[in-house]
Amino acid sequence: MTEQMTIGDRDVLLIVDVQNDFCSGGSLAVPRGDEIVPLVNRLASRFQHVVLTQDWHPFGHHSFASTYPGKKPYDTIELAYGTQVLWPDHCVQGTRGAEFRRDLEVPHAELVLRKGCHREIDSYSAFVENDRKTATGLAGYLRERGFDRVFLAGLAFDFCVRYSAEDAHVAGFGVVVAEEACRGIDVAGSVADTRRALAALRIPCASVSAMECVHQT
Ligand SMILES: [Zn+2]
Repeated sequence: MTEQMTIGDRDVLLIVDVQNDFCSGGSLAVPRGDEIVPLVNRLASRFQHVVLTQDWHPFGHHSFASTYPGKKPYDTIELAYGTQVLWPDHCVQGTRGAEFRRDLEVPHAELVLRKGCHREIDSYSAFVENDRKTATGLAGYLRERGFDRVFLAGLAFDFCVRYSAEDAHVAGFGVVVAEEACRGIDVAGSVADTRRALAALRIPCASVSAMECVHQT
């Protein structure tokens, strides 16, 4: 997409999970995840309003393979709310792995939304947890702030970015994904599935350079 987009004060950038454990050297490193940080910084500088999400699990979380004897990362398990992929331990509350990347430079971020805090429920989406019932409160926050369009960047494209984008759409927001500023894990074709799912909802994947800002000086 080469068309320019104008970003205004009713737009918000949601930066998803740019945390140490999802970058190289982390316990659930997304391939080439680190590459997005300079792009995310550049993108964020074009937005007046930015929200960060932070995966924030208690020790022994039900999405961790280590919680179940005999299970390995990327096995699946049936939980009360359906099938759950099991992950290596990651983003445990208060650990270095859960911290934001040191080179993420978004001092003007207005909210840090922590998710995955319930031990028994995972949360890919920044809006609704994986039981598809428990709300994080983010939609209400964004509505009260008067935002009507949500732009997304971050990790991982095919999990937390995808589900956050879909739920933002369901919540009635306009949605744009800056795919260039995302990277995927790609479990069993999940990157291609994500592109199809976003296209079916008519959610555009725009380049960072296409996002022009009216607030830019
Ligand atoms: Zn997680």
